[in-house]
Amino acid sequence: MQTQTLRCAVIGAGMAGILAAIKLDEAGLGDFTVYEKADRVGGTWRENTYPGLSCDVPSHLYSYSFALTPDWSRRFAPGPEIEAYFERIAEEYGVTKRVRFGDEVVSCAFSDGKWHLTTASGHTDTVDVVIAATGVLHHPRYPDLAGLDAFEGACFHSARWDHSVALDGARVGIVGTGSTAVQIVSAIVDRVAALSLFQRTAQWIAPQDNRAYSAEERAELRDHPDQLAETHQTLSDMFDLFANAVVDAESAEIKLIEQACLDNLENNVHDPELRERLRPTYRAACKRLIVSPDFYDAIQKPNAELVTDAIECVEPKGVRTKDGRLHELDVLVLATGFKADAFMRPMQIIGRDGVTLQQAWTPRPEAYLSVSMPDFPNFFMLNGPNGPVGNFSLIEVAEIQFRYILQLVDQILDGNCREIAATRGALTEFERAREEAATHTVWVTGCLSWYLDDRGLPAVWPWSFLRFRDVMKAPDLGAYDLR
Ligand code: NAP
Repeated sequence: MQTQTLRCAVIGAGMAGILAAIKLDEAGLGDFTVYEKADRVGGTWRENTYPGLSCDVPSHLYSYSFALTPDWSRRFAPGPEIEAYFERIAEEYGVTKRVRFGDEVVSCAFSDGKWHLTTASGHTDTVDVVIAATGVLHHPRYPDLAGLDAFEGACFHSARWDHSVALDGARVGIVGTGSTAVQIVSAIVDRVAALSLFQRTAQWIAPQDNRAYSAEERAELRDHPDQLAETHQTLSDMFDLFANAVVDAESAEIKLIEQACLDNLENNVHDPELRERLRPTYRAACKRLIVSPDFYDAIQKPNAELVTDAIECVEPKGVRTKDGRLHELDVLVLATGFKADAFMRPMQIIGRDGVTLQQAWTPRPEAYLSVSMPDFPNFFMLNGPNGPVGNFSLIEVAEIQFRYILQLVDQILDGNCREIAATRGALTEFERAREEAATHTVWVTGCLSWYLDDRGLPAVWPWSFLRFRDVMKAPDLGAYDLR
């Protein structure tokens, strides 16, 4: 029996923040503001604008389950199309007008049973519940390369793409061989005069067709919503298989993935010397698996060069490698990834009894089931630390997490408590089990990646997605401190 209403704040208007706003409204919790530091919704899809940007989760799965669209142009739709989807959904569901744009939340302090928010502009808000939907990978990690500042050409991080820089006919260098770099290589190789890909570690590439959907196929899905839902479900089931494979390094499924990657390398890279330089020395999917239909074609083009000598330094005219060679460049792209453990930072978050998030997250970020932390009552995270980022559609993850969070909020609405937060015991036990399970995953089989924390343990959900769905169905209230 609900006895009160609550004021909420959602931090971030990316995929998860838009979801939270829609679902809060649906739940009758319409008294909320969404805070967004930028001037548009879209999160990662707003910030990343590099050529070739795409999502490695098929678009019919990377969609809200309640807002499927028949209109995706391709299996893996291009980034701008994904961004437009989020903008449209935010508009259609009345989220956009609930967003306070261009105002970053700089502090969040808990006292007298409420959260007190302050933004960069000095605006304040007092709320009962905070939903942090601040994203996972958004603080660029710049490489520590000597001489980088002295480079005379254009130099930028992949997530800060400078569209004023001409690529056509330019000599372009790319540092990194992650998903981002691979997409950029395929997208620009035919436009540039010369492309140098600076590879520190080779990557396994899973072959994936990225076919376009015909107008007829799209019309068919538009006319048959049941088929659209079925497509979403089929892809979700397929991803469950992948998810189960990566958390069991000995599974038959992971062996199939390894074989597919190996076949891709053997069959599609023709020069044996290049093939060996592209051959990773660790198991497929140990690093986040890259999917690409055309990277191997691109890197074999006459104007492309795979540079495997380590970078010595950057000089005004280009990149010098340890073999002494200067690779002259006009443009240097740093596709060097993100600080994956920078969740919610640099926001200052002060919980119960003055405990800061910085203290709570020293030495590393932790949260019970990724959503709740002791000392931070009524503060919930979507795609928080140690969640299923490695193997699922983050949209499905956020939807599941939000349904779970709403059930915690119901405890307050039902008058069972005014404050709810995971107990320390529950968090400790969860982390213990998570760390133990992590040792069986493919992510610890001998590579470095952004999944690994300072101890070398994967900072991700190490069990199956089925288990995630199951555990997240309803909170175990014994794991929570209700006051
Ligand atoms: P990333 O996977 O972290 O890759 C960074 C790359 O930069 C690695 O190859 C790394 O080499 C290299 N690197 C870093 N510092 C270096 C240095 N000092 N010198 C030389 N090389 C250096 O980053 P990302 O490619 O941006 O991808 C991050 C994540 O974003 C992905 O895993 C994925 O989750 C997401 N993403 C997804 C898509 C998609 O299609 N869904 C697209 C882009 C990004 P080492 O391997 O040797 O460390």
